[in-house]
Amino acid sequence: MQVYGLVGNPVGHSLSPPMHEAAYAALDLDARYVTFEPEVDAIEAAVRGAADLGVAGLNVTVPFKEAVRAVVQPTPLAERIGAVNTVDFATDPPTGDNTDAAGVVRALAHHDVALGGQSAVVVGAGGAGRAIAVALADAGARVAVANRTLARAEAVAERVGGSAHGLDDLGGLLPDADLLVNATTVGLEDDRSPVPADLLGPHLTVMDAVYRPVETRLLREAAAAGARTVDGGWMLLYQGVEAFEAWTGLAAPVEAMNEALRARL
Ligand code: NAP
Repeated sequence: MQVYGLVGNPVGHSLSPPMHEAAYAALDLDARYVTFEPEVDAIEAAVRGAADLGVAGLNVTVPFKEAVRAVVQPTPLAERIGAVNTVDFATDPPTGDNTDAAGVVRALAHHDVALGGQSAVVVGAGGAGRAIAVALADAGARVAVANRTLARAEAVAERVGGSAHGLDDLGGLLPDADLLVNATTVGLEDDRSPVPADLLGPHLTVMDAVYRPVETRLLREAAAAGARTVDGGWMLLYQGVEAFEAWTGLAAPVEAMNEALRARL
């Protein structure tokens, strides 16, 4: 039996176990997906221990995505993003990749959203914002990064050859944008939006990385303004699809994984 899992703190409400277990069931794989919650200063020992125990792969979430880089060999993509969310123990040292980046691009592709030559505004410059900005830039979009703390927007914009802004600039940026992605925690388990509703319109595709609730205030207001919307569940799904495919070498049963996820969102 192969063992995969998620390491984070906390990991109690994660949707990854049912999503991955649905994939194993659909393909009749002898595998399990479990959660691990080490102390916040114990990630290095935890990953070494997982390797010794024969764990085949780990997803990594808050607060370990940066610190785990010390015990894995990050891929060039994970290095550029500065965060690892997927560890593959097939190599020694284990490989650390970032599937949030492919997750956002595949989520948008699923909704037929083209990125080449498009103008994208990423709101937020934390871990998700970095992965999303790098992914969109690599897919050929022009990226503007807007963040509450300007210095963090500048650091991300520099990585992707984009422009950096405070949130006050959104009014100037959004009329000419094709795509808006929320990568802040605003809207997470509350009914707030990081973007004033009057800046939204039918010219935009609006994606939210937040998936709790799955219909955030931003997405509700975007839909009301005539924008195309993509919820955070799609990014969650496709980062998991990408990890499954890296670990197993198999094409993921995307529909089974999505069904398991949607049943719980
Ligand atoms: P993070 O590293 O803590 O970054 C938080 C971001 O939110 C920063 O840009 C921060 O701005 C901004 N922010 C926080 N409070 C704010 C406020 N009141 N007003 C304006 N901006 C505010 O978090 P993260 O790991 O990037 O995660 C961000 C979100 O993405 C979370 O909701 C997470 O669940 C989601 N996510 C989803 C997926 C998925 O697969 N769908 C994957 C990864 C993450 P400052 O820099 O100014 O503090």
